[in-house]
Amino acid sequence: MNIPLLDLKAQYATIHEEIATAVARVLESQQFILGPEVVALERELAAYCGCAHAVGVSSGTDALLLALMALEVGPGDEVITTPYSFFATAGAIVRLGARPVFVDIEPGSFTMNPALVERALTPRTKALLPVHLFGQMAEMQPLMELARAHNLPVIEDAAQAIGAEYRGQRAGSIGHMGCFSFFPSKNLGGVGDGGLVTTNDPALAERLRVLRNHGARPKYYHHMVGGNFRLDELQAAVLRVKLPYLDGWTAARQRNAASYRRLFGAASLACEVAAFPCGAASCCANGDGAWATARSAQHQILLPPELPERRHCYNQFVVRSQQRDDLMARLKERGIGCEVYYPLPLHLQPCFADMGYQPGDFPVAECAARQSLALPIYPELTEAQLAQVVAAF
Ligand SMILES: *Cc1c(COP(=O)(O)O)cnc(C)c1O
Repeated sequence: MNIPLLDLKAQYATIHEEIATAVARVLESQQFILGPEVVALERELAAYCGCAHAVGVSSGTDALLLALMALEVGPGDEVITTPYSFFATAGAIVRLGARPVFVDIEPGSFTMNPALVERALTPRTKALLPVHLFGQMAEMQPLMELARAHNLPVIEDAAQAIGAEYRGQRAGSIGHMGCFSFFPSKNLGGVGDGGLVTTNDPALAERLRVLRNHGARPKYYHHMVGGNFRLDELQAAVLRVKLPYLDGWTAARQRNAASYRRLFGAASLACEVAAFPCGAASCCANGDGAWATARSAQHQILLPPELPERRHCYNQFVVRSQQRDDLMARLKERGIGCEVYYPLPLHLQPCFADMGYQPGDFPVAECAARQSLALPIYPELTEAQLAQVVAAF
């Protein structure tokens, strides 16, 4: 039996009647743009994320673009971010004429290394844009301290991290703004594109709302140039059906992650970063060679660490292997869905060639790009399916 990386039909089967009712309600109302469903969803998601304000938008990409626009990021500005993320993180910065200044990630968490941020600061630095990758939050405390010391705003790319926590605080509630995506494969996925920006700052919330709708306030009077970044009522209605289930789904993802740890451990197929002979850090710092010399690890995979004081919401369960490409091919032969997030770090993307970044600039991110492999972790997986994935190894 094949096991897909993600099975959206399994989830839909459990809620299709509620979704049909919600969709019918919107169709009957014939109110499709910025109506009561969006207002209600914004209220519910602000509460869920522990934020005062939430603004529904057209996608996670537009959430990032809008957040940067609200800070008036533009030509000549620099935004410090990670080279190991989905393209939109850097794309949004470049689309506004600003420059993404990358700093390397931490090997254990795949997120921006706060110790490297200070030396990346320049007088042109306009904001910090950390990414909570795969469902685990970046090391926010040192980032926020640095931001405060330099009077810089922080935008959290929380597209993969709805409901994740850092020291009891939810993703999107620590920085000045948080950006979320409702792309169908995210933990809270719509039936199409959608996104959200959260903030605790009422003035920023107001700017976001105005910019979301062409900068008009009142209607047909424009003091700013915004865009059409609106979330529609159909998406909002579907997301409102799904939101009450989100914590249950997240708990199931966490259970699945724990099962993987147990099953891989029992089969001696994997180890935790802490138990790794050379340590993931030195492995990454020294390139793949260091891993190759760790004899016992050659045929093992490295499991994703759950860092202390975090609530990991496991949008992805990403293991690392020295023989990643070979492993992926063999798993696919056995019907196991798996995927590489992300094969080419952002600083090496062809469209950014003129920025002058080189291979070797961010060795930890480049190492992760060679070794990472995402395994199925979706909530509806059964224990037997998880065992089948591990058996395939
Ligand atoms: C999905 C994602 C986005 C973009 O979201 P869309 O809704 O697909 O536009 C941005 N950043 C990260 C880290 C993502 O995973």
